[in-house]
Amino acid sequence: MANWRNANGPRSCVGEREMRVLVVGGAGYIGSVVTRSLLAEGHEPVVLDSLATGHRDAVPSGVEFLHGDISERSALKSAMSHSVDAVMHFAARSLVGESVLRPELYWTTNVGGTRHLLDAMREANVRRLVFSSTASTYGQPEVVPVDELARVDPTSPYGSSKLAVDLMIRDEAGAHGLGAVSLRYFNVAGAVSGAGERHQPETHLVPNILRVAAGLDPEVTLFGDDYPTPDGTCIRDYVHVEDLAAAHLLALQSIETVDPGGAGTHRIFNLGNGTGFSVAEVVESARRVTGRPIPVRIAPRRAGDPAVLVASSRRIQQELGWQPRKPGLDQIVGDSWRFLKEVELGRSA
Ligand code: UDP
Repeated sequence: MANWRNANGPRSCVGEREMRVLVVGGAGYIGSVVTRSLLAEGHEPVVLDSLATGHRDAVPSGVEFLHGDISERSALKSAMSHSVDAVMHFAARSLVGESVLRPELYWTTNVGGTRHLLDAMREANVRRLVFSSTASTYGQPEVVPVDELARVDPTSPYGSSKLAVDLMIRDEAGAHGLGAVSLRYFNVAGAVSGAGERHQPETHLVPNILRVAAGLDPEVTLFGDDYPTPDGTCIRDYVHVEDLAAAHLLALQSIETVDPGGAGTHRIFNLGNGTGFSVAEVVESARRVTGRPIPVRIAPRRAGDPAVLVASSRRIQQELGWQPRKPGLDQIVGDSWRFLKEVELGRSA
C-alpha cells in the first residue's frame, strides 16, 4: 500500500493504484460485487451499510464492515476517520413504484443522505467519489441509443432523486475540488461467485423470471405486450454486474484530484452493452439456460416504463477504455441462475 494513504492531502491519481475505498452500500447487490473487484485489484475496501436492504454475508470475510446509515452524520464522520482515499456510493432507495407513492423517502434518503456524505468527505478531505447513478435520469428517451447528451427528464421520484444527486455532486466538484464520476447504469443483471441479486421484495425482471424457473413462484408477470416494439414487450439493455464493476474500477483510477478550493471534475458515463433485448426475449433466454418451461402471465403496463432503453456507452469506451467482457444475454442470465441456485441450496442445506 502506498505510504500517502493517511495523508488525505492533495495528490493526483497518476501512477497511484492501491487505495482504501469506503464502499457505502457495500452489502447490497452491486456494492458487494464491486467490493470483490476492489479486493481482486489490490485495493482495500471498507464497507459501510445499514443492512436495510443489504446482507451482512454478502461482504467478503476479512473486509472491514461498519454498520451505519447515510442519514447519520456521526456514522459517516467515523467512517471517514478510517484513512479513506476514495468513496464509492451505492446506498440508495431504488424502487421506482415505491418512489411514486412515497417520494419523500427518496428525497430524504437519496438526496439528504448523499448531502451528509459529501459534507463528511469534505470535512475529512476525501476527494474521490464514484457514484451509482441511473438511466432513470433520462426518463422516456427521445433518441436511442441514449448518450450522455440526451435530455434528462426523469419520470419517477427515484430518477429525480438520482438526477438531483448528480447535480449536487457537480456543484460540489466545482466549488470544493472533489473529483467525481457518476455512472448511469441501464439494466444490471448477472452475478459472481458469492454475490448476486437478493432483493426483498424482488421487482427486477431477471431474478423474477428465475424464481419461476426455480419453482419459488408459479408464473412471471409480464407488464405489457402492447408497446411499439417488434414483440410488444419493453426493450432493455442488460449489462453483466461484473462488467459494471470493472467500469467502477476504471472510473476510480481515472479521477484526478486538485487542491481543495480548486475546481474538480465531475464526469458522467452511461453504462450498458448497447444491445436491447425484449422482456419476451429474456424469458426465452431463461428457458434456454435453465431448461425449465417458465409460465408467463400478461398484465397491464407498469407505470413509468419507457418502451425502449438502450445505452450508448461510447464515451466510457473511448475515455476510460471500458469494454464489456460478458455481453451475451444467456451468459448474464446463466450467472444469475447459478447464484440463485447457490443461495437456495445454501438455505435448504
Ligand atoms: N418486468 C416485467 N415483469 C417483472 C419485472 C419487470 O415484465 O416481474 C419488465 C418491466 O416492466 C420492464 C423490464 O421488465 O419493461 C425491466 O424491468 P426491471 O424492473 O428489471 O428494470 P427497469 O428497466 O425498470 O430498471
